[in-house]
Amino acid sequence: MKAEDYIALEDRYGAHNYSPLDVVLAKGRGVWVWDVEGRRYMDCLSAYSALNQGHCHPAILKALTEQAAKLTLTSRAFRNDQLGPFYQEICELTRSHKVLPMNSGAEAVETAVKAVRKWGYSIKGVGLDQAEIIVCENNFHGRTITIVGFSSHESYKEGFGPFTPGFRMVPFGDAEAVEQAVNENTVGILVEPIQGEGGIVIPPDGYLRALRRICDENRMVLVLDEIQTGLGRTGKLFAEEHEGIEADATLVGKALSGGFYPVSAVLSNSEVLSVFMPGEHGSTFGGNPLGCAVARAALRVLTEEGLIDNARRMGGRFMDALSRMNSPVVAEVRGRGLLIGLELIPEAGGARRYCEALRERGLLCNATREHVLRLAPPLIITEEETDWALEQLGEVLGKEAGVSPDV
Ligand SMILES: *Cc1c(COP(=O)(O)O)cnc(C)c1O
Repeated sequence: MKAEDYIALEDRYGAHNYSPLDVVLAKGRGVWVWDVEGRRYMDCLSAYSALNQGHCHPAILKALTEQAAKLTLTSRAFRNDQLGPFYQEICELTRSHKVLPMNSGAEAVETAVKAVRKWGYSIKGVGLDQAEIIVCENNFHGRTITIVGFSSHESYKEGFGPFTPGFRMVPFGDAEAVEQAVNENTVGILVEPIQGEGGIVIPPDGYLRALRRICDENRMVLVLDEIQTGLGRTGKLFAEEHEGIEADATLVGKALSGGFYPVSAVLSNSEVLSVFMPGEHGSTFGGNPLGCAVARAALRVLTEEGLIDNARRMGGRFMDALSRMNSPVVAEVRGRGLLIGLELIPEAGGARRYCEALRERGLLCNATREHVLRLAPPLIITEEETDWALEQLGEVLGKEAGVSPDV
């Protein structure tokens, strides 16, 4: 079958809730992927940071296949021999007291919302069903009804109501607005340390420290959604470290399994995860032995191969070169580590067609929001590979870049 045949099948039988680039991939190794016609591309999206360790990392593959041949699922009605070691390893690595594993990122967010509400009622003493959680404009926390209900992005929520009450929205990056939104029913704030889907938006210096202080002063739980920014992406294990703070609850997903398998978790350093009693929360696949074995290997790769430090160094190399590129269509370059956004001028006509032009040159990336081109290669990327990517970006966005529809 040719690429167009695969695309025709998807169009005919699948729901049309995506608009992917028309590249049909069949194989991946490290930072590279190949399409069904054998063309090679560098993956500069990494499945939104789920592939920090690169495609088909051999150590994670080995853990997956070995565990898959032994035991894959027990449900949590029974215990399994991967769960305890996974708990210990992730808590020691992240200096957390407790962990609650789930599958998708959205489930980790939902779990945190439940935990923070219950903490509010049973420990803080908020009146029943009165709890409020503060969230930020332009957020992205996933796609369930509760989560899209507190999105400010119309296309995420339009036509999907009615929504879950109990959330209050404030502008992102504005600590004063948070302070003003707090009342006696406020139990916590849920925020991304850097807004990823929102366009790689980095808050002003001191923002996370201010949130930490507000949470301490008002007895609120600080929940950081590090599903995209965590596990090395920004050049630190967690983006919170750039401001020297610790969240009360941290959400991880995506790279937690190195792209092999959906594994997410809520990590906590406070009493917030202690509120659940048997029967109050769960998931058939959450904490299954296959997922635990994969996550253990994925975390080992992250630390043993120095990927966090590499993200910092290669991110610096990207940022230096991109800032010097002097492109007529780039208004701003934003980034931390290997989470980089190029904000294009409105006259450039949207980031999508620059992604198409880069695809033609063998580099895959995507647009987030209409005018932001996102670069987030696997953290294993080498200097040579970084320079190759910069060369392609220079060709497409550099001095000669056109603002006409054909780029
Ligand atoms: C991807 C993402 C999620 C949702 O994760 P899913 O696994 O797609 O449900 C939540 N928060 C952030 C910040 C994300 O980037």
